[in-house]
Amino acid sequence: MAEKVIPLADNRYAAALPRIPLTAMRPNGLLGDALGRPLRDLRISVTDRCNFRCSYCMPKEVFDKHYDFLPQTSLLSFEEITRTARLFVAHGVRKIRLTGGEPLLRKNLEVLVAMLAALRTPNGDALDLTLTTNGSVLARKAQALKDAGLKRVTVSLDALDDAIFRRMNDADFPVAEVLAGIEEAQRVGLGPIKVNMVVKRGTNDGQILAMARHFKGTPIVLRFIEYMDVGATNGWRMDEVLPSAEVVARIHAAHPLEAIEANVSGETAERWRYLDGSGEIGVISSVTQAFCQDCNRARLSTEGKLFLCLFASQGHDLRALLRASYSDEQIAGAIGLIWQARTDRYSELRSAAAAGEGPDSPGASGARERRVEMHYIGG
Ligand code: SAM
Ligand code: SF4
Ligand code: SF4
Repeated sequence: MAEKVIPLADNRYAAALPRIPLTAMRPNGLLGDALGRPLRDLRISVTDRCNFRCSYCMPKEVFDKHYDFLPQTSLLSFEEITRTARLFVAHGVRKIRLTGGEPLLRKNLEVLVAMLAALRTPNGDALDLTLTTNGSVLARKAQALKDAGLKRVTVSLDALDDAIFRRMNDADFPVAEVLAGIEEAQRVGLGPIKVNMVVKRGTNDGQILAMARHFKGTPIVLRFIEYMDVGATNGWRMDEVLPSAEVVARIHAAHPLEAIEANVSGETAERWRYLDGSGEIGVISSVTQAFCQDCNRARLSTEGKLFLCLFASQGHDLRALLRASYSDEQIAGAIGLIWQARTDRYSELRSAAAAGEGPDSPGASGARERRVEMHYIGG
């Protein structure tokens, strides 16, 4: 018997999309993947280049002057990015995050921000448009980004101590300039600002309390990220991961905390607030507590490949479709089919394998040596 089908409820391209089997729909009518997860969040990498060489992301020994970064012609143009983003919005995306490499190194990025800020959901609402940056040129760019329509920023900052920070970024970049960037972003209204700290045991975990105290009592939410085994070049070792539970315990011992509810479903960070009312922190436990079951994120690489998981080894080449004479409807149809077939849940499989409950290695996303690098796909 033929499978029962229903049309997409809130999709401008519904008529042209391949008819979607009922099993692929979530109760609210949004497109779902093979595990029922909706498509809500799109991360767009706008460059694979960076002025930092954080050892957990772009170790200097690999990303040296001989490394072949993508040529300009390989990058999606602003028009191509905006066209693709519009199709994702039609499929249910409500949040777009620009990332990289270092996104603020892409020339005239504010022009792209303005183009994306003009996109509307089928209900006529603006998107939640944000950007993740290492903050190195944020002080100079914050006003232009705000004027172009960027809503808020997330700034990566791994230490307050200048010497430790310079070692972490491995580009001898001073912490004061990133702090100035955060201040300027706050002044121009790019908030609520989040600050991300990747914690590497034995490298910067001694900075946890100093960082917590620096942002306590401010509207800025500091989030501690477990060091992940993403990519194939950072020499990741489990003994360098400091579990989030330990981060919370260390802060709680000095400044008591209590857990609070997530803001929205699919949020990666677990939230904690200070009992004295002086703000909150977040922890992102990608290694010790997988959150694949709510993962509603798609990633568009710098050269237009669609990745369904941070740990994937292959992407789907949307640039080939954009540069051939396919219509919006056809490309939207392809995106829909790709999302529907998605089964990725790498972190869950890794946890199951570590607990001896699953296959030896998470097979869904490929072997480590073939995994996509973080600077190429964005965080
Ligand atoms: N250059 C920008 C920045 O650093 O914010 C944006 C791109 S960066 C790849 C995005 C995020 O990924 C950053 O917050 C960074 O700290 C995080 N990241 C990179 N490698 C990581 C790893 N191995 N484990 C956990 N987080 C990582
Ligand atoms: Fe650059 Fe960001 Fe990667 Fe650090 S984490 S090397 S700042 S892309
Ligand atoms: Fe999403 Fe993949 Fe991370 Fe799981 S491992 S939360 S599927 S990106």
